[in-house]
Amino acid sequence: MEDKIIKLQEIIDKHDNIVFFGGAGVSTESGIPDFRSQDGLYHQKYDYPPETILSHTFFMRRPDEFYKFYRDKMLCDTAKPNAAHLKLAELEKCGKLKAVITQNIDNLHQMAGSKKVLELHGSVYRNYCMKCGKFYDFSYIKNSTGVPRCECGGIVKPDVVLYEEGLDNQTLTDSVRAISQAQVLIIGGTSLAVYPAASLIDYFRGDCLIVINKAPTPRDRNADLLIKDPIGQIFSQIRIKGE
Ligand code: ZN
Repeated sequence: MEDKIIKLQEIIDKHDNIVFFGGAGVSTESGIPDFRSQDGLYHQKYDYPPETILSHTFFMRRPDEFYKFYRDKMLCDTAKPNAAHLKLAELEKCGKLKAVITQNIDNLHQMAGSKKVLELHGSVYRNYCMKCGKFYDFSYIKNSTGVPRCECGGIVKPDVVLYEEGLDNQTLTDSVRAISQAQVLIIGGTSLAVYPAASLIDYFRGDCLIVINKAPTPRDRNADLLIKDPIGQIFSQIRIKGE
């Protein structure tokens, strides 16, 4: 364990073109449940499975049911950034980290101070009227009842990639560019089980691949450094030069 922290520290010290690719495991230490873990959202009991509720078809047909679940389970405004979010923001500030690419929709990287955040699956902090495109913030949805409506009468939809929906093209392009230009890629808090997000790793051509995840990932055997501990615990031990 100690050796691995030292090695991670050395790699971070030596490089200034690092990209971070993360998932649900980055937020679990902030108290946001991992969708796919045993006690995660997908194992709770609802009238419909969460995969059904969080699909495009369901949203269009039953927005009332969708919003019941969504408001109850997806809108967590009490979570705070943890050591991983904070350290990544510091690494960006000192010029070492070029981008955070995340599968999370919780805004915690931005709350920690990160500027270049590529949100592959969107964000619960952005919502748009389906009719006129007007923007609505987190609290508008949180404090709404029933199906949230725009002043024009249109239904407001979260800017979150639902099942059956494609990823945003610009976000994908920017992510591919960041990964393909990185010297170091840190994969953290994700089992790389969700596609097409996980396939972005194929674009990495750099020197050093680091995987930090409690559970095995398909990239473990390609990793130059593999750490199987919670990512917040690991990042809390990293020091930034000049600190
Ligand atoms: Zn509208």
